[in-house]
Amino acid sequence: MKSAADRFAWALTYCQKVRLRVTPARELVLNQLAVHCNPLSFEALIAAEPLRDRCDAATVYRTLMLLKDAEIIRQIGLPQKTSYFVLNSPDTICQYLICRRCGSISELALGRAVQRLAQTKAASRGFSATYLELEVYGFCPECQKRMNLGSPFRNRHS
Ligand SMILES: [Zn+2]
Repeated sequence: MKSAADRFAWALTYCQKVRLRVTPARELVLNQLAVHCNPLSFEALIAAEPLRDRCDAATVYRTLMLLKDAEIIRQIGLPQKTSYFVLNSPDTICQYLICRRCGSISELALGRAVQRLAQTKAASRGFSATYLELEVYGFCPECQKRMNLGSPFRNRHS
């Protein structure tokens, strides 16, 4: 399930499965999340081209909460920062590097091996339908420059 079209098709099938009507707003939100593999912030979603002109922020927020409750999407909360949303499709990589200062979020490509290891361990404990979500928090290079803060490891003993 690699392409945006595949992810979007997965989302529509999932809606059918859980008997969730696909309204125009829901379709637009799901399509946006399917296009982006990385989590999208609420702000980025409401500013996105097709959504901006057709849905107000309150509608988008309600839609997100409903899709989250139905487990079609997941919410990644950042401390004191905005929330990010990502499609729950099976291929979603859930390993993120998150800046504690600016809230930027990027994929931490640890690869499938980490995911498989976690799933094998979980299965050995009798868990099913598992997924791995890994969030590594720190300061991005840009924020370190602005804060005039080097690596914590480099400065620890100076
Ligand atoms: Zn930052």
